[in-house]
Amino acid sequence: MSRVIARCEQLATITDSPGSITRIYLSPAYMQGLALVAEWMQQAGMTTWVDAAGNQWGRFACANPDAPTLIIGSHLDTVPNAGKFDGILGVVTGIEVVERLVQTGKTLPFHLEVVGFGDEEGLRFEASMLGSRAAIGKWEDALLELTDAQGMTLEKALLECGLNPHDYPKADRSKDNLLGFWEVHMEQGPVLEVENLPVGVVSAIAGARRFKVMVEGEFGHAGTVPMMLRQDALAATAEIILMIEKNAQIHGLVATVGHIKAYPNAVNVIPGMVEFTVDIRSDDDALREKVMNLMFHSSEAISMQRGLDIYWKEYHWAPARACHVDFRQLFEQSISEQKVHVKTLVSGAGHDAMNMASITDIGMIFVRCKGGISHNPAESVEPEDADLAVETVLLALDKLAICYLEKQGVTP
Ligand SMILES: [Zn+2]
Repeated sequence: MSRVIARCEQLATITDSPGSITRIYLSPAYMQGLALVAEWMQQAGMTTWVDAAGNQWGRFACANPDAPTLIIGSHLDTVPNAGKFDGILGVVTGIEVVERLVQTGKTLPFHLEVVGFGDEEGLRFEASMLGSRAAIGKWEDALLELTDAQGMTLEKALLECGLNPHDYPKADRSKDNLLGFWEVHMEQGPVLEVENLPVGVVSAIAGARRFKVMVEGEFGHAGTVPMMLRQDALAATAEIILMIEKNAQIHGLVATVGHIKAYPNAVNVIPGMVEFTVDIRSDDDALREKVMNLMFHSSEAISMQRGLDIYWKEYHWAPARACHVDFRQLFEQSISEQKVHVKTLVSGAGHDAMNMASITDIGMIFVRCKGGISHNPAESVEPEDADLAVETVLLALDKLAICYLEKQGVTP
């Protein structure tokens, strides 16, 4: 049995709601999970601490105190009724890597840290990735006033976990001498499974824009208003949704209308107003802007033709983040050395690495998962795939050490 998988299984037994896996950011189970992870980190030979934002850190220091630090990690919080691997896999993989280095007596010319971030899922405080946001120095006092559904502030939640909320500047790693951030994550999609590959190299994390769209027409009686005289907002929306789908297909990106509400939503009333959301993602920001503009204009044309008004309101924007080409090459070489075909793919989902990209270079490896399922108890990762990911990181570390020493003018 793979120790990585066994540890993911063990962590899954720590939950806020018995019978399912739930460890929401700063909940009792979340903090209990950190304690177990800290224990593993210490067993592996790391010094550990929890920062002011509730992130769990472990450090495997090298001999030279002035050397830079490579961080490996992912997140330890979960969605409600989660699976065992989303986020957790990357943290446990990092610990396993250190344990293997120590067992084999290997040293590195740089420090290695493993991090388990909190709040990647962003479910509690109407903000997302608070953990890695603290690490990149993007917390401010106003954040502490955010409240959860029970009205508890982030400040109080941190205090209840025994953390000092006002210490958050100490969690900021942006001024540190960092070599990079590596994240191993389950794919959360079906590509690797379809291609029968255990791991893949992430080229970039897709950027995303999200909009709330409102279509305004005329309410009317379903029996008395002739078809020619209607301004049916729902029928117009149907046409707009198909236009969005078609544009995404033609231009090779992803766009989704995932939420829709028709008013008054009654069987015998012509819908006079509709609200829906649009989520559009691509690793190519310029392409996404171009397609987005096409969608704006087409939706306006459709609305005008039908005598309706349409309003787009953006509420989320994140640029694409490329993984560093050097890290990609290290991973690609390490994978092909293990006689595995190298597959490069874009991450459609957001990850902590996205935040970390603003303070250091990032690299990501995806691990195959069953059926592309995530955020669900059915999440499944094969032990051999997890072990291959560990081996890939170890090989890549060897190569990074050589590159690093070469750059320092030291011949290994
Ligand atoms: Zn995740």
